Amino acid sequence: MLQFTLPPLPYGYEALKPSLSEETLRYHHDKHHLAYVNNLNKLIKETEFEDAELIDIVRHAKGAIFNNAAQVWNHTFYFEQFGNWCPIKGRLAEEIVRKWGSIDKFKEEFVATGTSLFGSGWVWLAQDADGALHIVQEPNGSNPVKRGMIPLLGFDVWEHAYYLDYSNRRAEHLSALWNIVDWNVVAARYMMK
Ligand code: MN
Repeated sequence: MLQFTLPPLPYGYEALKPSLSEETLRYHHDKHHLAYVNNLNKLIKETEFEDAELIDIVRHAKGAIFNNAAQVWNHTFYFEQFGNWCPIKGRLAEEIVRKWGSIDKFKEEFVATGTSLFGSGWVWLAQDADGALHIVQEPNGSNPVKRGMIPLLGFDVWEHAYYLDYSNRRAEHLSALWNIVDWNVVAARYMMK
């Protein structure tokens, strides 16, 4: 049977300072992300999802299996998009400016959408079937794949993502993440369509 494994963090534990501390990454990746992987492996045993690909479990599962599969997928996606900061360029930058007026206005609305999410969840930049960009708010582990959209960028707004560094200052945490986004990774997701 297929066993999922925790992907290694794609950079060192100090690489995202000061936006995210080493301590936050050690908890978030080594404990939370790992727990979702372990839970998923236990839950899919002897079910129809035992040998399924992760993305297919996200698309089709419900309840605890969906929650854990989506969180495994979300966290892998999340950690991959950080590291080598670079500006937004090319067609993605043009589309963002066309839709939100400016890069700063987009960032403002993205942070406001994440800040206003009640409880735990994620804020996403996603592309619909027509290629149009949207800022999407999802509760708990849900993500735009469930709506048939392509996720391009996802910020985790669960308290475990920021409480050690920012306590209750969620908006400050989300704003600080702009300093570590590798927009080349995000643009590659966009161009894949
Ligand atoms: Mn998380």
